[in-house]
Amino acid sequence: MSRVVAVLLCAGGSVRMGFDKLLTPIAGKTAIERSLDALLLGGAQEIVFTVSPTTRAFVEALHCPVPSRIVSGGETRAESVYRALCAIDSADIVAIHDAARCMVSPETVRQSIESARQFGSGVVAGRVTDTIMQIRGEDILPLDRSKLIRMQTPQTFRFDRIKAAYEAGDRSKVTDDCALYLAAGYQPEFVLTDGEAANQKLTTAEDWQQALATYARFGTGFDTHRLVEGRKLILGGIEIPFAKGLLGHSDADVLTHAIIDALLGAAGLGDIGRLFPDSDAAYAGADSLELLREVVRRIEDSGLRVAYVDATVICERPKIKPHAAQMQRRLADAMHVLPEFVSVKATTTEGMNDEGKGLCISASAIASLI
Ligand code: MG
Repeated sequence: MSRVVAVLLCAGGSVRMGFDKLLTPIAGKTAIERSLDALLLGGAQEIVFTVSPTTRAFVEALHCPVPSRIVSGGETRAESVYRALCAIDSADIVAIHDAARCMVSPETVRQSIESARQFGSGVVAGRVTDTIMQIRGEDILPLDRSKLIRMQTPQTFRFDRIKAAYEAGDRSKVTDDCALYLAAGYQPEFVLTDGEAANQKLTTAEDWQQALATYARFGTGFDTHRLVEGRKLILGGIEIPFAKGLLGHSDADVLTHAIIDALLGAAGLGDIGRLFPDSDAAYAGADSLELLREVVRRIEDSGLRVAYVDATVICERPKIKPHAAQMQRRLADAMHVLPEFVSVKATTTEGMNDEGKGLCISASAIASLI
């Protein structure tokens, strides 16, 4: 069994992004945490973090479930890697990874490590789908893209070889580990990934948008309440004049409940019954919009926010359409989005089912979070 140490490079500056790309959460987790998760799930048994003065405190406070150490990064990426390699007591395999490539999958990490075990190296690289031309003064030279690859990370090597390559090579001239490995006379083995986006390094604002889209989450919700006499009808946070109202422990706002369940589902936070149990007197007659605000607060605490909600009310009567715009405004306000990001629709069941017979009102919803 070979010992696998991962070097996680968290020392890079964030000059091109305008904010700290390594420390700003994407869907609740920073790039450093996401990269660490992938390395651990992919088989790393020990971690050496390289940090900058900006990232040090965050990395020190991280919970790392395997042995780890922290070293100060150098002036360049290569110097940071070299310092990390010098800090390793013993290892058979070392996987070097840029924390900014936080969308890497554990499977890619695993393949990279496996390749290093078998062949001495496993350098992750992406296939090229764009046509690339080389400009040499007046001459423009089309390059054969089938022979081009984009260097990514992790780049995984036998520890003794990469350490020797870093000691012998010119560290001032390289931007990745593979170049030094080559210069030391070794033939690298590549692990090719298809998606360029999947293992994209967070460099530009576009990369950041791509990462947000990668971690977008969706949830669905459904709810039904009985229609009875002697209750107010509350739907989507507003009172609708009607002969009957919905029966329930809270105000029985079936539309808001369906939306709450959709949001909780997307956030992985359970369901409305778990958060606000019927058995809890605190929620008797509760304003469901307040429950929605509480759910949104929890979602935002976890680093996510509401992107879009679409809901359908299923009932024979009353007519929903005249009230839909007002519901959208109230719901949107509670979810901290503009009304255009909330859609409230309605359908009848043509007199069929309990909704059609006027026995109940149901609602379904889908929500996305970013
Ligand atoms: Mg309900």
